[in-house]
Amino acid sequence: MSVPAPLSPPSLWAATAPSFPAFPALDGQHSADIVVIGAGFAGLSAALHAAEAGRSVILLEAVTVGHGGAGRNNGQVIPSLTRADPADLRKRYGTERGNRFARLIAGSAAFTFDLIRRHGIQADAQQNGWLQPAHSPGRATIARRRFEQWAEVGGDVAYLDGQQVEQQTGATGYHAAWLAHSGGHVNPLGLARGLGQAAARAGAKLFEQSPVRSVSRDGDGWRLTTPRGSVQAGQVIVATDAYSDSLFPTFRRSTVAVRFFQLATSVLSPEVRAAVLPNGHALSDTHGDLYFFRPTADGRLVTGGALVLPHNWQARLSHSLAQRLQTVFPIFAKTGVQFDYHWDGLIGFTTDFLPHLHQLAPGILSVVGYNGRGVALATACGKMLAEAALGHAPEDLDLPQSPIAPIPFHGAIEKVATLELLRYRLRDSRDIKV
Ligand SMILES: Cc1cc2nc3c(=O)[nH]c(=O)nc-3n(C[C@H](O)[C@H](O)[C@H](O)COP(=O)(O)OP(=O)(O)OC[C@H]3O[C@@H](n4cnc5c(N)ncnc54)[C@H](O)[C@@H]3O)c2cc1C
Repeated sequence: MSVPAPLSPPSLWAATAPSFPAFPALDGQHSADIVVIGAGFAGLSAALHAAEAGRSVILLEAVTVGHGGAGRNNGQVIPSLTRADPADLRKRYGTERGNRFARLIAGSAAFTFDLIRRHGIQADAQQNGWLQPAHSPGRATIARRRFEQWAEVGGDVAYLDGQQVEQQTGATGYHAAWLAHSGGHVNPLGLARGLGQAAARAGAKLFEQSPVRSVSRDGDGWRLTTPRGSVQAGQVIVATDAYSDSLFPTFRRSTVAVRFFQLATSVLSPEVRAAVLPNGHALSDTHGDLYFFRPTADGRLVTGGALVLPHNWQARLSHSLAQRLQTVFPIFAKTGVQFDYHWDGLIGFTTDFLPHLHQLAPGILSVVGYNGRGVALATACGKMLAEAALGHAPEDLDLPQSPIAPIPFHGAIEKVATLELLRYRLRDSRDIKV
């Protein structure tokens, strides 16, 4: 099975991110201390940090840098998980390990923006804050709890009441929000390409159009083969997330890949820009059928969603997302909404909505399942994967290792996963008791 193809034409990010000469395809026999599979945020950050630590690194990408989720996402830099908060992490991993993982997450947005600044990456990075508004009173109580918990582990966060949410964002109908000042947004393909350039400058060798077809034992290490070459390495980092193919079948069955769609509006007038996210925040709210919006450097708004059935998705989503925008930002009811770009990508979900660190075999490590929160977290986890490959003990890593748990009836579940949206929409329409 090859890396899944997108359904859509090129994204806004492909039209606006700086481009660089292509990296070559792997040809012939090579060796390295560490080989990384996949050029998304995790793989690129791992390659960069391992090369900076003086190791020889080869990165193999099936298509091009940022081909996966990294180049297709909404670009929101978010220092939290979708569901679990620090208390959940402590319950799951124990106090010390849970707090350590929570601190990694809380610091992941600042880590990503620092990396962008340190390497001069051109990704239209805006660290203007990310916020999660609550769309019902019960969820406002949860927003307060989330704010308190992320503050406790060192997050630079604030709590806003409904009026403050409207003043700061122009978004109406929200009851409260918690705000992470260290968050923001980027052109994600720009970030991926910039990380690729930084890794290459640090000495890593990157290869595109080089899908890894097999991984087999070779002496104390591993041999990875691609259509025209092979690499022998002591340590392997697998950073393929939702774009994992059947290279490691059990591992592939431990996450569910779900297709999500992104739409970018046409360039907004100065009047609309002054009324919609005027302070440049990125916003993802509490709906299970998530409402999320972010402005871009060239004055657009990028939003998106999922569909139970993808037929005629561009027209259907253009219609429903225009209605959504008119509800949340009333100025759109006056001006109308036009979308110029439509694209799609796969998000990797785990059944507990937590990312997992797995050892696939001795010397082969991976983190999967960022559950739609990988811009900051996969970048931070890439550094952690590099540390593991450099010899840090599992107990010294910020995310505890867990055994691979393949999902029963995986193929069937992946096919019907979008039906969950119906349940989310029903739940979204009711308040929750807290
Ligand atoms: C539509 C959408 C919107 C999203 N919005 C956000 C957001 O706003 N904020 C946020 O934090 N997260 C968001 N995400 C999630 C985020 O994009 C992912 O969590 C992140 O990209 C994961 O990074 P990664 O490096 O692990 O994997 P990816 O970026 O998916 O990269 C995996 C790479 O592995 C390569 N590969 C696969 N198999 C092989 C092989 N055999 N050999 C070589 N290479 C291989 C693929 O080609 C791919 O390039 C979104 C995702 C999507 C799809």
